[in-house]
Amino acid sequence: MTPEEQVERLKQFRVELGAIEHSVSDDYLEQFLIARSWNIAGAKDQLLKTFEWRKTNDVDHHPVATLENKLPVLYAVRGYQSIPDSNLEALPGVSESVLRINKYMGGACLHKTDREGCPIYIERLGYHKAKDIAKHATVEEVQGYHVGCNEFLHRVVMKDCSKAAGRHINRETVIFDCTNMGWSQLHMPALYFIRAIADCDQKYYPETLNKFFLVNAPGAFVYVWKIVKAWLDPGTIAKIQIIGSDFKEPLLKQIAPENLPAFLGGECTCEHMDGGCVPSQVLKNAKPLEPQAHNENVPTAYNTEIMKNAKTSDVVRGPTFY
Ligand SMILES: [Zn+2]
Repeated sequence: MTPEEQVERLKQFRVELGAIEHSVSDDYLEQFLIARSWNIAGAKDQLLKTFEWRKTNDVDHHPVATLENKLPVLYAVRGYQSIPDSNLEALPGVSESVLRINKYMGGACLHKTDREGCPIYIERLGYHKAKDIAKHATVEEVQGYHVGCNEFLHRVVMKDCSKAAGRHINRETVIFDCTNMGWSQLHMPALYFIRAIADCDQKYYPETLNKFFLVNAPGAFVYVWKIVKAWLDPGTIAKIQIIGSDFKEPLLKQIAPENLPAFLGGECTCEHMDGGCVPSQVLKNAKPLEPQAHNENVPTAYNTEIMKNAKTSDVVRGPTFY
């Protein structure tokens, strides 16, 4: 489809939508059109379902950490203007379930930007204690945590990246580091968590992926990939690059060395932060997070009172950010 035809399709989409409850940017509508291969009826159906899901779960008002409200972050953050470099900590307001899930995670961080200005999310998948996550957390808790992270990413970090790049940024680049991955990760209940997360992203946050690198993938990964691939949209699969130990060159093509952690072939070490670029309790490079009495046992990312009261109005479908 030519760019002119795409503009025309976007206009038709607006006409087809008619009067809707929310104002939406062209960029946001385009995400739904691309996800549905520019089919207007399909895009409309997905958009209306997203509105419904956001309303039912009050996602528009999900609290997000900002410089002003000083809410604690839900995962490690490095290299953005609008939020100081931070780690997840057992601070008042963070739910106990978030801390419990992190205890078994190999490490995760939203770490600087790629050469296109998109934020980079790094997860040390190979160090996940997959069986423990499945044993000690529920799908509802993992989803609650994921939605909290997504809202922060889209409302705070994407906005920051858009300002820095001088253009609308609504996609993230993801690196899953499979170093240390073995047969223990081939655990079906744990893979169902990946399914729930992929399902949520593909339905309600369409076309928000820029590039996806799976690096240092061992032979065993072929079996995991066969299972996971069946749960993904063709558009998502097309963006995924599975790379073995020769990951340095493809990563540096996408990411400047100063923005890429040294363990992935770059130059960054984030020495100023506990845990460096990607803090990990499993790798014990950061202090352990012990839940306190002020960390409530709820399936949401923050305590109930914060979920109710720390509402923010800046939603993802809003006007272009820069
Ligand atoms: Zn770093």
